[in-house]
Amino acid sequence: MKSIYSVSRESLEQYFISKKMPKFRATQVFEGLYKQNVNNLFDIKGLKKEVMVMLNEDFFFNKLDIIDKNEAEDGTIKYLYRLADGSLIETVLMVHNYGYSVCVSTQVGCNMGCAFCASGEVKKIRDLTPDEMLLQVKIINDDLKKQDLRVTNVVIMGIGEPFDNYEHVMEFIKIINDDRALEIGARHITVSTCGISSKIYDFASFPYQVNLAISLHFATNIKRSKYMRINNTYSLESIADALKFYYQKTNRRITFEYIMLNGINDSLEDAEELAKFASKFNCYINLIPYNETDNGLKRSSNEQVRKFFDYLKKKNLNVTRRREQGSDIAAACGQLRVNKLKEEL
Ligand code: SAH
Repeated sequence: MKSIYSVSRESLEQYFISKKMPKFRATQVFEGLYKQNVNNLFDIKGLKKEVMVMLNEDFFFNKLDIIDKNEAEDGTIKYLYRLADGSLIETVLMVHNYGYSVCVSTQVGCNMGCAFCASGEVKKIRDLTPDEMLLQVKIINDDLKKQDLRVTNVVIMGIGEPFDNYEHVMEFIKIINDDRALEIGARHITVSTCGISSKIYDFASFPYQVNLAISLHFATNIKRSKYMRINNTYSLESIADALKFYYQKTNRRITFEYIMLNGINDSLEDAEELAKFASKFNCYINLIPYNETDNGLKRSSNEQVRKFFDYLKKKNLNVTRRREQGSDIAAACGQLRVNKLKEEL
């Protein structure tokens, strides 16, 4: 048995074909699940009784319990969900002038162990299944629908490393993108990785125009390895090779995320290293204000960020500064979950 929300339409078509049934049944089921919004297979309009009975034996419905919901002054809402096995995950809804964006978690905990990130404080317990990712978005979308609004963008940048849960994340993307399901345009979906190069090669063949972001943060191996363990396995050179392949294959521009850490990666020499690395690619650089946690690392001053920004601009790079959101509700990656777990101890 698996969750009915864990299958893409393509997979459901395969299921019907394996049962010697016409594959259009999959579209009927999707209409029922995502347009009619049923929570019982027997409520799907137009579906034959025998199909309902068969599906009911192979699939179940599940939901996520919202156990905490924090709204920040700027409208950002942070959801803390409890999964069927009791695990906690968090999801963030951000309000932009272009629409509503949801930041999705992909794992319970994370094994990447980046020194600046609160998510890594709790080791990975398990991967999330596609339904557990889909429901993070669907529940919020259903809420927005009541006000005639909808989720327009999805960023796969919550807790976890999406490329360490590759197959499930790709199945999830197929479902949210489906015009019979959540209809989120592929160009409005972004996957962020700390740089698992081997999966960047696979992702180059994923036939959807989804954006790729790389959490770069440091442009020399010495610094990067010091704060991001993954760099010992996938160095900057290995990421660069994978990205060249990705670009040849997809022609899509990539984003480099760069957290600004005071006195650590924010000098003009750091900017120079970053410019050297980034100018090899068709890319955006996104400078991110660091959300301080209790690890002692500090965010760069506005003045330093401005100098860094100006340097990159002068080098003709496409650089933006990320607007800070939800800082009054501990929206930094993993913070809410970590706080809750600490409370429960
Ligand atoms: N594992 C994936 C996605 C999850 S992390 C990745 O590494 O991309 C999402 C982004 O938030 C990453 O760029 C990560 O480096 C960054 N991040 C982690 N902790 C942060 C903090 N305290 N403040 C700002 N950004 C943070």
